[in-house]
Amino acid sequence: MNISVLNIAFNQYGAISHIHPTLLEINGQYFLTDTGYENTLSQLRTALHEKSIDIINLTGVIISHDDIDHLGALYDIKKMNPLLQVYCSKIEEPSVTGKIEAERLVQAKQLLQQLPEEQQAWGKDFVALQKSIQRISDVDHVVQENDLILGDIRVIATPGHTRGHISLYIEASKTLIANDAVVAESNGELNIANPEFTLDLPAAIRSVQKIRELDIQTLICFHGGIVTDHIRQKLDQLIQRYNNEQHDRTR
Ligand SMILES: [Zn+2]
Repeated sequence: MNISVLNIAFNQYGAISHIHPTLLEINGQYFLTDTGYENTLSQLRTALHEKSIDIINLTGVIISHDDIDHLGALYDIKKMNPLLQVYCSKIEEPSVTGKIEAERLVQAKQLLQQLPEEQQAWGKDFVALQKSIQRISDVDHVVQENDLILGDIRVIATPGHTRGHISLYIEASKTLIANDAVVAESNGELNIANPEFTLDLPAAIRSVQKIRELDIQTLICFHGGIVTDHIRQKLDQLIQRYNNEQHDRTR
């Protein structure tokens, strides 16, 4: 297996942001974890071209969870490559396929009701953004905790950010594709992805504790990219920080 972490740069609120889908080459077949936004598809194609492949050469896409930056481009990719095999967790499948409202949309609507007048415009845009996601009608492979997929990729259920969020562990190379279970900050610390939007923060911390038990040499974060140094120590610090906050809140 060959693992390449892609670097997709794009402009967000006037600053350059980066996201990191991972390209897996397994016995000559290519799989992608997460797609980026609909409007970063051209950057994704450029990143794939640098690896000498195109959307049409992808055998499958593994969706870690239902958020616009992770599956926003899936509909267009599937249109370009109708044979594409889509993987996602059993829990996220109904919303990935649009059978039920996405958790993030429900959250955005609830948030809008609580926002003060001056933030209403932002809140409405946030709801509209969630509604703008075009959805595929079928997922080919529904996965869950501890499943082995594509040979030796273990599905690790890491709920919190969303209910059905998954990470992927490749034991042979001690690699964890964490997706949004943790993000690598620019200061070198690890953190929870967007704690203010984390649907279940205690569950997210438990997911970090679960990840901490794995033997990881390479940690791949969708936000922040590759981390190879002091991984367990950084995970411990993250857990400690949130435990202290919890403690402060209950005092
Ligand atoms: Zn994300």
